[in-house]
Formats: sequence, C-alpha cells, structure tokens
Amino acid sequence: MVWPILVESIIFVALAWWAIRTAVFAVSGVAACALVLLAVAFGRDWVWGVLVLLYFGGAIIGTLYGAGPKASIFNRLLGRAMIDWRTVLSRLGWGCLLVVLARSSRYNTVAISAFVGVLAVALGDTEASEIGALSRTRPKRLTSGQPVAAGTPGAVSMLGLLSAVGSGWLVGFTALACYFIIGLTNRSSWTSALYWLPVGATLGSLAGVVVDSLLGGTAQGAFYCEHCQRYSEEMIHTCGLPAKQTSGWRWLTNQGVDLVSSLVGGAVTVSVVLLASLSL
Ligand SMILES: [Zn+2]
Repeated sequence: MVWPILVESIIFVALAWWAIRTAVFAVSGVAACALVLLAVAFGRDWVWGVLVLLYFGGAIIGTLYGAGPKASIFNRLLGRAMIDWRTVLSRLGWGCLLVVLARSSRYNTVAISAFVGVLAVALGDTEASEIGALSRTRPKRLTSGQPVAAGTPGAVSMLGLLSAVGSGWLVGFTALACYFIIGLTNRSSWTSALYWLPVGATLGSLAGVVVDSLLGGTAQGAFYCEHCQRYSEEMIHTCGLPAKQTSGWRWLTNQGVDLVSSLVGGAVTVSVVLLASLSL
C-alpha cells in the first residue's frame, strides 16, 4: 500500500518544519529521522513508520514543554538545536537493523515486538528526562538513592518514571491499534500475541530507562567544565571549551548508553510478549 506512506511523508514534513523552527532538532537530526522513516516504512510496513513519527512528534512536544525552566536545569543554550543525528541513530539504530534482519517474513511477532520495544525506550527515555526534569521533588540516584540536582545523569524522579510508563504504553497501544485494523481485512497478519504489545512496551520502556540511569550514573564518561563550573556529558562542553573527565569511561558516551538501553528494552518487550502469549 502506498497511501499510508504518502500520509506519513506529509506528516513528517510538517513535523520537520516544526522541529527546525523551534530548534528542538538539528537539521542532521531531522535528516536522520527521515532516513529511518524511509527505511522502516518501505523496508517493513507503514505501522513502523507511524511509531517513528510518534517518537519524532513526542520528542518535539516533550522538549518544548517547560523549555524555559529546563534551559537552566540542563544548562542548555536557548535557540541551539539539541537533538542531532547521533542521538537519533543511537535511539532508533537497532530498529533499522531489525528491518534488515527480519525481511523474510512480513508479519513476525518477534520482529514487531522488538521494534516496538526499541521505539518505546526511545520515546520513554526522552520523556523521562524532558518531563522528569520538571519534577517538584528532586530526582534520586538509582545506585545510592541519594537526592541530586535535576538533570544529573543517572538520577530518576517519580515523574520521570511515570513519563516512561506512559510513553511505553502509548507506543505499544498505537502499534496494537494499527495491527488490529490491518488484521480486520488481512487475517493472516493478526495474532493474539499482539494484544500484549502495550504491556511489553511499558515494561521495555521502564527497563530501558533504568538501564540508562544505571549506566549514565556509573559507567558513562562524566566531565566538568572549569570555565563554566558546570558538569558536562561531553568531552567538549557546550561553551566550546574542553572539559575535565571526572568519572566513568571516557569512550562511553550518552549515545553508547542509549544503544545499550534500547537493546535491553527491545529484549524485554520481546520476552514479555512471547512469554505472555505462550502461557495463555
Ligand atoms: Zn563550559
């Protein structure tokens, strides 16, 4: 079917315009989203394209929500685009690989659950940090339970966890709704295991956020910019000056952590969907 991909392209162009105009995504980030959308919508089916659009739109809304107070929490420079191609590919990269790995069968529960899990972590982790940063109570470090300043890598707030739960459920439910509609006309594409997608995606998203926070607070390279007297997630601080390494592995970046958490989230979603459908 060509028309769903046509509709998705039109929605994508509108979102791309919004993302660049509000400087939430860098042009390279929008280009990466476009590539992923084309790869999954043409390589697999249009439902995967819907989920990519859900991540894209959700990331814009989540980032813009409370943008003013968050600028100082994250030490963001207003008007400077944050989400670039590296972030997009570290969050959606496994999803593209799944298109290649699962080409043989069009409707395959394992491939579908894995993709839904990867997208659930992508949206869940984005909203956990974007909406969680606005929490009225201070986030806690997962490793020690110690309250720390909002925006600290490795810390989560209850609001952040709830955002991850809501995002995961939304991704899973959207996929379920789309496949249910397809199944009405094409019976061979439907299997009742897909009813478990919302539960699987919710748990996958939560697992992804927990792994992200654990690694983010321990193994991820952390840096300190002496010029700005601010912590930095990158070797080069946003001010352009090199920052001093304070902990973690220098080579393990935020994107590296995203790749690991996305893999874990996908695996959890597949396990939940398969186990639940086998045992019932
Ligand atoms: Zn600096």
